[in-house]
Amino acid sequence: MGDPTGDAMRFETAAVHAGQDPEPVYGAVNVPIYQTATYAQDEVGTPKVWDYARGGNPTRAAFEAALAALEGGERCFAFASGMAAETTLLLTLRPGDHVLLADDVYGGTYRLLSKVLGPWGLAFDTCDMTDPRSVREALRAETRVVWVETPSNPLLKIVDLAAVAEVAYAGGAKVVVDNTFATPAAQRPLALGADVVVHSVTKYIGGHSDLIGGALVTSDADLVEPLGFLVNAVGAVPGPMDSYLALRGLKTLAMRMERHAASAGAIAAFLDDHPKVNQVYYPGLASHPGHDVAARQMSNFGGIVSFSVGSAEEAVEVAQRTELFFLAESLGGVESLIEVPGPMTHASVAGSPIEVPPELIRLSVGVEHPDDLIEDLRRALG
Ligand SMILES: *Cc1c(COP(=O)(O)O)cnc(C)c1O
Repeated sequence: MGDPTGDAMRFETAAVHAGQDPEPVYGAVNVPIYQTATYAQDEVGTPKVWDYARGGNPTRAAFEAALAALEGGERCFAFASGMAAETTLLLTLRPGDHVLLADDVYGGTYRLLSKVLGPWGLAFDTCDMTDPRSVREALRAETRVVWVETPSNPLLKIVDLAAVAEVAYAGGAKVVVDNTFATPAAQRPLALGADVVVHSVTKYIGGHSDLIGGALVTSDADLVEPLGFLVNAVGAVPGPMDSYLALRGLKTLAMRMERHAASAGAIAAFLDDHPKVNQVYYPGLASHPGHDVAARQMSNFGGIVSFSVGSAEEAVEVAQRTELFFLAESLGGVESLIEVPGPMTHASVAGSPIEVPPELIRLSVGVEHPDDLIEDLRRALG
């Protein structure tokens, strides 16, 4: 991505250079892990940059600068988890405000609204955002945020970001896009009209299943100041070690996403032809209902593939039989993972309007050789 004719660094270059000048004293090419809680001041009340590390840390700041550049946003704020980022963002709202969620939003986001911020005073509804008209119908006078996830988890539904942004603006609401599944290597929501991008850095950005982290990116002048205040006031910030690992992950994001997507495409095609598989959910398949929109707004179709088999029992058996695909929650790492959303990642939404089909299996396709992964699935499907 990036503008090949302009001055801006292209995506892969920004991933390695944005916010990452060599360290000034020794010239270390990696931003050091500034493992400190506080900073010495020369005079009372005149800190060099920060007075205390809840407010800021150079390792964290380097990660934030790099991710802001990759999303094409003015500012990035890093958090201790994706949920910490979401909570801090929603604390810019007031009791009585209304949030409209996509109907298969990440289960943790739904739980945050239904069990934590709902009782605290936020109102919310869900609607099918694959149809922008249903967003228009669900908007209320109090709707402040339209919360989109595309591709969604675990059904890989695709929402037309530009169309939903237009409807949300007409209704006076801001658009928040959870870009965890696509990453900025495949989709840049701010350029399509979103106000804020949310990430679980834990997933593709970290990329190695070795940290928990989150981030918000925005260019909205109304939000930069309140968010900066809340980062320090609420304090859900990441430590320097996790900030370092997140920055290290970011450097190889573009290459990893290309591999994840190429292998996911090959696996989706294999599953689509398999007699024991009922339905395959992958936006790269021409048969996927969101394929055309995805082809327009994404530069690749991502690394997550879901599929359904004959029954919930069979889904559990298949997921327990793979050897290369580890049976685990989470996604986005270099290693392939398999899970059954019903009893695992999506157990918290059982019985809710966003419950998932019990015979569904979700794959996070890693960077192993795709032929080995296909062999593993062929064996597990029997
Ligand atoms: C994992 C995830 C989150 C939550 O992030 P954590 O880092 O686990 O707190 C939010 N949205 C999506 C789409 C996710 O996959």
